[in-house]
Amino acid sequence: MRVIRAEVLGMCFGVRDALRVVERIGDPGGVIVHGELVHNEVVLGDMERRGFAIRREAERSTAELPRGHRVLITAHGISDRERTRLEAAGNELLDTTCPLVIRVHLAARNLHEEGYHVLVLGRKGHVEVRGVVEDLERVDVIEDEADVRDFGLPRLGIVCQTTTPESRAAELRRRIAACNPDSEIRFVDTVCQPTKDHQRALERLLDRVDAVVVVGGRSSNNTRQLLELCHLRGRPARLVTSADELDEGWLAGFASVGLTAGTSTLDRTIDEVHRALVQIGTRMNGPLPADCCPADPGLVRSDALA
Ligand code: SF4
Repeated sequence: MRVIRAEVLGMCFGVRDALRVVERIGDPGGVIVHGELVHNEVVLGDMERRGFAIRREAERSTAELPRGHRVLITAHGISDRERTRLEAAGNELLDTTCPLVIRVHLAARNLHEEGYHVLVLGRKGHVEVRGVVEDLERVDVIEDEADVRDFGLPRLGIVCQTTTPESRAAELRRRIAACNPDSEIRFVDTVCQPTKDHQRALERLLDRVDAVVVVGGRSSNNTRQLLELCHLRGRPARLVTSADELDEGWLAGFASVGLTAGTSTLDRTIDEVHRALVQIGTRMNGPLPADCCPADPGLVRSDALA
């Protein structure tokens, strides 16, 4: 079994920057993380072991507002309303919002101020989307075709959740335009570049492999979108959070397997999965051919493993 790694995979600059801020915090016990820093259980487990108090997203709406703490805002960002509430409660905010999420907020706000009814293409209830819509009076979230209708409004302004696949955004835009032929429609492309790069690299990889292993958190939107792209292209694919979850029986059916990973996946997790895949491949077929995994200059060959 050949293992071929996507040319672009794994952690984006937004998550790396957020983790750098977290690593520099000397007194984790004094910090409340307002949500899940990234949707990756390995990262969250590391943080909890260091002493951070993580207010999971499910608890955020019901739990009491923290008061007088240092509160870390995650890479997904929050609304200005939420920011004001946290500051009014005497908290000091440590902000790791990704600049490309801030770009979505600004685009949506500008459209709103110019009189457009804002449509956010993204997942309803996702923390990033909630942060964008909470500051707007006139807004709808479009998650799928069922949400598209004739809005009966003269001006519609469209933005995207940063991790929306480009093809999905294009399809929803086309449907919105078809249902609202008399509306002036403005589109601001706020899909982030790392998401585009990951998706495009996976498109290329899909031409070369029989199946794909996607590494990342189960609640990570961009990881799920990578899995969905594989299924849309008719390739068997499995999402794993770690090497322990690899299913040797499932892998046995394929001559070549691709490897990709979501933008919140640690390098070490990707390397562990890669190493395990190579070992499984070696057990199946003997040592790897010399040209295996051309996209991965750091490939660990199974016959070089200790
Ligand atoms: S996925 Fe995109 S928007 Fe989200 S943290 Fe990474 S770069 Fe920023």
